[in-house]
Amino acid sequence: MAASTPHYDVIIIGAGAAGLMCAATAGYRGRKVLVLDHANKPGKKILMSGGGRCNFTNLNSTPANFLSDNPHYCISALKRYTPQDFVELVDRHGVEYEEKAPGQLFCKDSAKDILNVLLTECEWAGAEIRMKTSVSKVAETENGYRLATSTGTLNCESLVIACGGLSIPTMGATGFGYEVAKQFGLKVLPTRAGLVPFTLQPELKAQLAPLSGVSCPVEASCHQHPFREPMLVTHRGLSGPAMLQVSSYWQPGDEVHINLLPGQKIQEDLLALRKEKPQSTLAHYLNQHLPKRFAQAFNELQGWQGPLQEYRNSDIEHIARTLSDWTVKPAGTEGYRTAEVTLGGVDTRQLSSKTMAVLDKPDLYFIGEVVDVTGHLGGHNFQWAWASGVAAGNVA
Ligand SMILES: Cc1cc2nc3c(=O)[nH]c(=O)nc-3n(C[C@H](O)[C@H](O)[C@H](O)COP(=O)(O)OP(=O)(O)OC[C@H]3O[C@@H](n4cnc5c(N)ncnc54)[C@H](O)[C@@H]3O)c2cc1C
Repeated sequence: MAASTPHYDVIIIGAGAAGLMCAATAGYRGRKVLVLDHANKPGKKILMSGGGRCNFTNLNSTPANFLSDNPHYCISALKRYTPQDFVELVDRHGVEYEEKAPGQLFCKDSAKDILNVLLTECEWAGAEIRMKTSVSKVAETENGYRLATSTGTLNCESLVIACGGLSIPTMGATGFGYEVAKQFGLKVLPTRAGLVPFTLQPELKAQLAPLSGVSCPVEASCHQHPFREPMLVTHRGLSGPAMLQVSSYWQPGDEVHINLLPGQKIQEDLLALRKEKPQSTLAHYLNQHLPKRFAQAFNELQGWQGPLQEYRNSDIEHIARTLSDWTVKPAGTEGYRTAEVTLGGVDTRQLSSKTMAVLDKPDLYFIGEVVDVTGHLGGHNFQWAWASGVAAGNVA
């Protein structure tokens, strides 16, 4: 007699942040849960996140920290599973953490601690995790879904797609979630790399090359979305938190505006300095406010020479504008190879904001990064993974 096809209440494709959270939540409800993943280990992105320390949430996370074509979609799930809820979970497991920047919580020891929390929760909830399993076909059945996988055919009542976005393909990222969405008639919005360093045109790249490794606090903005954080010059272009944040708002051809001296009254300062010390130079002024190497290179780039007394009021006005609004037109970004997230994805207008289920197909769910909800840098993306995972896990 042929063995019957194994049946699960819930199958989740993707053993990442959202999938594992969803698995534990559904398992605790008594559902028979299986998580499938083609990678050899679960939660690889969790392990590499936050420089190996995983910035697992942000205490100040609000819907305003997310980009989406349908900005209200994320509100409900984020409200029902808050950063504090995740902190309580982490506390119950005795994980030590620290607030490195306002609201940003990182593991004190290692990102492994967060993965262990999730794996332990899955174990306690009785959710099974099967790695090295690829899914070649998803078909709808009378009472659920049938999956053709590299480890055999499987049936389930509810199917949750949690296979993330396209960033870091070497970590197992694929467009599989988008393919499943399209198969079931859902719209997938154009995707692009987000939270990613900028590359520069050859001339500016060569001028800034000597500054590789220099970081300075700036206020960078693109399309009127300002971020006051450090900028880092690299041998490939511009990076650091400020640049990663604005990259999510940037489209090819756009300019990035950089205030090198945020919070300073540059024009007033320079006029006062010219009056008090006419022999003083711009190089001297910049040296006082910017990292020395950056000050020197920027001064050379602009060709500012001679004592301040030689500068007219209109020159000083122009210099102040250059420093407060240094405008750079990036050549591009480093793309999915180094991007932390993928913008765009499954259009949320076809999903329930309460359950993450497809509106006219209540047993099919999309959670985490595969949907068109992308957070700012600083722990927001994991908070979305937890919140959307719990929302689906409560009903799937
Ligand atoms: C370098 C880096 C650092 C980051 N740091 C932070 C941080 O500190 N804080 C923060 O909030 N966010 C951070 N992020 C973003 C965060 O990692 C993601 O937003 C989050 O992991 C998304 O969770 P997810 O479960 O939707 O997808 P993922 O965590 O990407 O999980 C998707 C899973 O699906 C599997 N999969 C893919 N395709 C298939 C397929 N065809 N079949 C089977 N399985 C498949 C993958 O192997 C993977 O295990 C970082 C991202 C990167 C790349």
